[in-house]
Amino acid sequence: MLSRENVTREVLSSLENQRAVNLMEEKRRRAEAEEKSPAVRALLAERQQMFFAGMRGAFASPDKAKEISQNMESRMQEINKGLRGALLAAGFPQDYLQPVYRCSACRDTGYVGEPVHEMCGCLKRAVLARLYQSEGLQGLEKENFAAFNENIFPDEPIEGRKSTQRGYIVKLRKRCEDYANTFAPGEGKGLLLCGRSGLGKTFLMNCIAQRVLERGYSVVVVSAYKLIEAMRRFQFGEEGMDQVQDMLSCDLLCIDDLGSEPMLRGITISSLYHIINERRNTNRALVVTTNCDPKQLEETYDQRIAARLCDTGRMQIFEFVGVDVRRFAGR
Ligand SMILES: [Zn+2]
Repeated sequence: MLSRENVTREVLSSLENQRAVNLMEEKRRRAEAEEKSPAVRALLAERQQMFFAGMRGAFASPDKAKEISQNMESRMQEINKGLRGALLAAGFPQDYLQPVYRCSACRDTGYVGEPVHEMCGCLKRAVLARLYQSEGLQGLEKENFAAFNENIFPDEPIEGRKSTQRGYIVKLRKRCEDYANTFAPGEGKGLLLCGRSGLGKTFLMNCIAQRVLERGYSVVVVSAYKLIEAMRRFQFGEEGMDQVQDMLSCDLLCIDDLGSEPMLRGITISSLYHIINERRNTNRALVVTTNCDPKQLEETYDQRIAARLCDTGRMQIFEFVGVDVRRFAGR
């Protein structure tokens, strides 16, 4: 796993690039607006001239500095008003020459807050996304709702059901997408995606993670195996404190393939219980994929874990059925 420090450094350096890109975009817009509108050009020139004249005046007679800056301020407001009008008249949005940022909270610096300097939400999300994608979840970017292809699912009736497997997965996809689109942190509403391997559970979970991430929330996707590994390391005091903290505090925790992790005495069940219960107590959501059905969950883990995962007051349970499609799709 990449270290958090390295990942944070990487993200901060990409923010630095972003700021350079922003500046270039500001220059480009300015040149474009000046080219298209002589009024914009004249007003910008006047603004700049006034700014320098004001500065020189303040240096030359410091006792008048306050008066100068007040005069300048009111003229500046007139110019800005004129600029907004001239931009609109030339067919630009009125804020076209405002500073350009991707994140208005931190202005692409990654940090917010005075006097307490804190990581901005955009930095936290980017660090988490990179940390956990480096953990063998590189598919996350490719596995999104737009890439979902129902045609790999056979259009054959599912035994004992009315719909075909394709029709059925289209419905599940819709319900997963609805979940991701309406996800709100602090509601604690989750999903249990259960069924055999090769029916599309993990793919849809990654789609959900990707969408919730795009909507600006923090998401951690981790396999049950890695989760138990992290908890084991943490328990033996080696490391993993940050990872455990992420799993407890992110807006959405996605656990893949519950039931495939090693059953370590004194670790697996207590770790899972701790994570699931803590998140439940703080109304934080969980999406879990598993090959176990609810009854098997109770047999494999214990009643407290099964009861929390299958609590229909908080969890929707989607059962995946049909035949393994990986043999068709070659994945
Ligand atoms: Zn930000």
